[in-house]
Amino acid sequence: VSEFAPPPPTHGSDPRLWWFDGHLDLAYIADHGRDLARQPLQAGGTLQPASITFPSLRAANVRASFSTLFVRRRTADAAVPPGCCFDDPDGAFHAAVRQIDMHRQWHSQGLIELANPASRSTLPPSGEGLRTFLAIEGAACIRSAEDLHYFRDAGVRMVTLAWAEGNLWAGGDQSGGDISIAGSRLIERLDDLGCIHDVSHLSEAAFWTLLGMAKGKKVASHSNCRSLLPGARSPERHLSDSQIKALADAGGIVGINLFARFLVPPAELTRRRATIADVVRHLEHFTQIAGRRDFVALGSDMDSGFGTDLLPVDLQGPGDLQHLAEALADRGWSDHDIQRFATRWAELV
Ligand SMILES: [Zn+2]
Repeated sequence: VSEFAPPPPTHGSDPRLWWFDGHLDLAYIADHGRDLARQPLQAGGTLQPASITFPSLRAANVRASFSTLFVRRRTADAAVPPGCCFDDPDGAFHAAVRQIDMHRQWHSQGLIELANPASRSTLPPSGEGLRTFLAIEGAACIRSAEDLHYFRDAGVRMVTLAWAEGNLWAGGDQSGGDISIAGSRLIERLDDLGCIHDVSHLSEAAFWTLLGMAKGKKVASHSNCRSLLPGARSPERHLSDSQIKALADAGGIVGINLFARFLVPPAELTRRRATIADVVRHLEHFTQIAGRRDFVALGSDMDSGFGTDLLPVDLQGPGDLQHLAEALADRGWSDHDIQRFATRWAELV
């Protein structure tokens, strides 16, 4: 029991505000040894200090989320849980199936409400569980278009063709490279299934090709502004101003990423922590170029391979999202603007 009472709601901070996070890597976080059913301080695991667990999300009124199936090629990096790693296409598929099983187990325990393809029920959910929509982050786990029906039936709603390292479908933000011929056929099949296309982690070349050919909804689930990050290690991980404009003109939306290294330029981050003011700076850059506030959403990426020391110093977990809402109110965002930002993904699912 905390001796600290929650701060009273201030102007613009509706106590009933609820959140839909467009990017959480729940399986990846659990694979680092965290028991997501417990409070962060008791949850254990190697990603410390922790902020994301089901109780912490529930307490902060984060009621819905995309949650990723994330697989990557096996490397010598011992910090990456082996369960996420693959050596060949079958290994990638089975690693993703294992992560689906983790979500099904949380669903059967009442910790999440895993959305299935038929569910179009209202949000926020009436129950206690986090309404969870699966997303593939890096489509190496899709061996061929035949696998798409399996993933669709398992509840996958959104697909990023490539993670940083790239794959047979598309180039990633670190590998570079365009969408392949096979990748362009896969985009057509994803359109047939009504899948949302996520461009976060695509190379810039792959971004433009996908934007030109995909018919369905297009989003960047967890990306920030490249022009605010001079000297960034992997510049294509962040959206250029022309990419932001094109995504906005295509009716897309972007989820703001709360990872400190994606908020503050590297040279500056050696001198100070990231703050909510940096988050607001990226949000306002997005909305200025897009010409609309409903371009932005939350895609927090919280705890995805790091701890709260790499979150903004005043946004140390879901419980501090209310402070972000207050900061936006201070910048003149209306309650309606803020509610839409907090729950924007609900309009896509
Ligand atoms: Zn990511």
